[in-house]
Amino acid sequence: MTLDTDVLILGGGCAGLSLAVALAQHAPRLRVTTLEKRTGYTRDRTWCFWSTTDHPFKAGITREWHSWRVQADGEEARQSSRTLCYQHLPADNFYALAQDRMTRAGQPLVLGAQAGAIRADGSTMVTETDRGAVRSRWVFDARTAEPDSTRPALLQRFLGWHVRTLQPCFDPACMDLMDFQTSTEPGRTVFFYVLPFSAHEALVEITYLDRPDLLPEPAEQRLLQRMQQMCGEGGYEVVYRECGALPMRMEQSPAHGPAIPIGTRGGRVKPSSGYAFQRIQRQSRVLAQALAAGRPLPRRAEPAYYRWLDGVFLAALQRHPERAPHYFLRLFQRGRPEALVPFLSETASLPDILATMLALPKLDFAQAALLPARPSEREHA
Ligand SMILES: Cc1cc2nc3c(=O)[nH]c(=O)nc-3n(C[C@H](O)[C@H](O)[C@H](O)COP(=O)(O)OP(=O)(O)OC[C@H]3O[C@@H](n4cnc5c(N)ncnc54)[C@H](O)[C@@H]3O)c2cc1C
Repeated sequence: MTLDTDVLILGGGCAGLSLAVALAQHAPRLRVTTLEKRTGYTRDRTWCFWSTTDHPFKAGITREWHSWRVQADGEEARQSSRTLCYQHLPADNFYALAQDRMTRAGQPLVLGAQAGAIRADGSTMVTETDRGAVRSRWVFDARTAEPDSTRPALLQRFLGWHVRTLQPCFDPACMDLMDFQTSTEPGRTVFFYVLPFSAHEALVEITYLDRPDLLPEPAEQRLLQRMQQMCGEGGYEVVYRECGALPMRMEQSPAHGPAIPIGTRGGRVKPSSGYAFQRIQRQSRVLAQALAAGRPLPRRAEPAYYRWLDGVFLAALQRHPERAPHYFLRLFQRGRPEALVPFLSETASLPDILATMLALPKLDFAQAALLPARPSEREHA
């Protein structure tokens, strides 16, 4: 049977396009085809991440902050670093850069194409699509996963407005990573996240870390109140909105069936934070390098102990959600940025991991370390 392509990627979102670009860079001899069901790309989200991981989309970064702060319990932890920063990549820039690299590498990206079932026919993969069957040697599946009906440890819900204000309202030198608010409901943690682009422009986001049985709060009202506090009534316009809901849970190790799951489907969303961009970039690189070298494909790109650490952090948050503000404040008050930022990005050395863990309340985290969150917990939740 002749192959239509060597590598078929299903889903041209963050993970699918990142893998296509990594293959163009590391395995240029492979024929790569990506199928995406959308007919075009818009700015549908914003990726932010620490500057600790190398990736090929740096030209799309529009803003970076070398100072950040966490506020809780009437206290503030402010950190700065000359070498490390928090970066902002709007999705439209990412999509444009990826398409440009793929075009230059001669890789087809088929928009408006719906992929269906995948089966193995000997060593060939056959994927049904609305354009007919596609035969390939490898299939990487980055399609939006079916919503999982089992209950996560916590649910992260967020609503963000990119605003322009008449009066200067923001300090562009320092971003608010977490500004915790009091919550009247047990099991609910609320914080604001503010990315100030200038004195007159910012992304202002409200985030809830909720026990999954809680009903969502009307986030717009809180965001409106916050904007009024910062800028007065009506003194701003909303130029872009984004929202999302990310389950925070330990995923089972992704099983490789006929297709290899990547991105969210492949468990790349960090359980304790909801971040995925850096993990997706690392996974794309190690997969592309392994394919280029003819090596077996690795399941994970990070050392296994990060999985345990995620389980510990998630267990502590799940047991004491009301103490989340205190945990994050302690981390940012006591952790040095040079150790803490790599810890959050899963690139820290073992001494830095230990130093960061020691910044956390010992009793809560010792208990969580004895019973960390595990994938099986969600089946019984
Ligand atoms: C609003 C929002 C903001 C986020 N912000 C951050 C952030 O700041 N930092 C961070 O690290 N992470 C962030 N995340 C988490 C994570 O990085 C993103 O969700 C990321 O887009 C996940 O990449 P993905 O490829 O798995 O999924 P997606 O990017 O959603 O891609 C899935 C693709 O599959 C396509 N598809 C679905 N079905 C089919 C089909 N049958 N055939 C073909 N194509 C199909 C979809 O159209 C889509 O393009 C955010 C998530 C959201 C929702």
